[in-house]
Amino acid sequence: MDLQTKALHTGYEKDAQGTMAVPIYQTTAYEFRDVEHAANLFALKELGNIYTRLNNPTTDVFEKRFAELEGGEAAIATSSGMSAIFFAIANASEAGDNIICAKQLYGGTLTQIAHTLKRFGIESRFFDVHNPDEINKLVDDKTKIIFFESLTNPSIDVADIEKITAIANKYGILTVVDNTVATPILCRPFEWGADISVHSTSKYTTGQGLAIGGIMVERKNLVQKLKDNPRYTHFNEPDSSYHGLVYTDVGLPPYSLRARLSLLRDLGAVSSPFNSWLFIQGLEHLSLRMKEHSRNALLLAEFLESHPKVKKVNYPGIKSDANFEMAQKYFTDGFCSGLLSFEVENLQEAEKIVNATKLYSLVVNIGDSKSIITHPASTTHQQLSHEELISCGVPEGLIRISCGLESAKDLIEDMREALEA
Ligand code: PLP
Repeated sequence: MDLQTKALHTGYEKDAQGTMAVPIYQTTAYEFRDVEHAANLFALKELGNIYTRLNNPTTDVFEKRFAELEGGEAAIATSSGMSAIFFAIANASEAGDNIICAKQLYGGTLTQIAHTLKRFGIESRFFDVHNPDEINKLVDDKTKIIFFESLTNPSIDVADIEKITAIANKYGILTVVDNTVATPILCRPFEWGADISVHSTSKYTTGQGLAIGGIMVERKNLVQKLKDNPRYTHFNEPDSSYHGLVYTDVGLPPYSLRARLSLLRDLGAVSSPFNSWLFIQGLEHLSLRMKEHSRNALLLAEFLESHPKVKKVNYPGIKSDANFEMAQKYFTDGFCSGLLSFEVENLQEAEKIVNATKLYSLVVNIGDSKSIITHPASTTHQQLSHEELISCGVPEGLIRISCGLESAKDLIEDMREALEA
């Protein structure tokens, strides 16, 4: 079945009313039939609803649908992309462990890793996404996760997923890929060997900037990698917090099971039923939107490349981009999503252009149906010095665009007027 069909149907059996739209189960808790039923649910002898911090029928449809689109076995919806990332890492690591991450990451992920996880005793080590061989020098017995983005935000690089996962597999280490910018429609990390994916569903999944959310997806048969793997004792020894459950022995996807029974239970960063419902609406037309975002971004990138005021354009869909070959390999039909950036002469020039555009909203978000313009040097990367900005690939004259669904003609015309104002 095609992704577009799955996006409309997977995970939902119509209720007794024949309700076409997935109902919003706006409830905190669920009544048990009797004491035995309650005990069976808690002991996992029977699967069912207990309490919305652990599971919810609306969220369940969203999780099943997203897992199917990504080609995974199970998924856990969370209250934000940041909590999905935290769950994916914390599920496998603890104080004294380390994780290996690409340098080219979303700023919020970098601060979670470099500051919060550090305070929890989890060390991070960094490799250049263009040189995955560096991972070999960083691995030791305490390495639990290799983390990277399939299409990086904001640097707009494409990861060599197959190469990174091959290196990780040599050591039996789990790979976690943030597939937010590409979405399951454009990039399929599990087909290239990744183990876990995470998404900020606040972006393209909702598609209209309607809600904050995240999701963690586990690939099929991950149990084989975890079972008796000495790096992951938590999954192979009885969990004293869940009456001695051994996650790899239950016959359920172990990574998601542990994230649900332990992390969702204890940290509570759960998706609200209403937000899960919004994400279900977004998934219905995700595949149509991603192609349109990509077409618009390509046309805008080509226009920018031809404009004398533009020094450089970063978009993996154009031949001059260093990531072009990698994008042809990893992205469905060469569609490269809606994120691009371009460089003009200096800070003043960039500020002038950002202020002059009318159709692009000055917002720190991506993946909205409305186009967004950002000037990283004065916002997300404000604290960095001139030298630091250059070294992390964000020069002062860099402008980032999240291309929306307006007509490409209007987007190009508005940008032309702003460049020539
Ligand atoms: N991952 C990527 C690639 C992002 O761009 C973002 C947010 O911009 C996040 C994760 C964090 O997601 P959220 O804002 O939903 O917590």
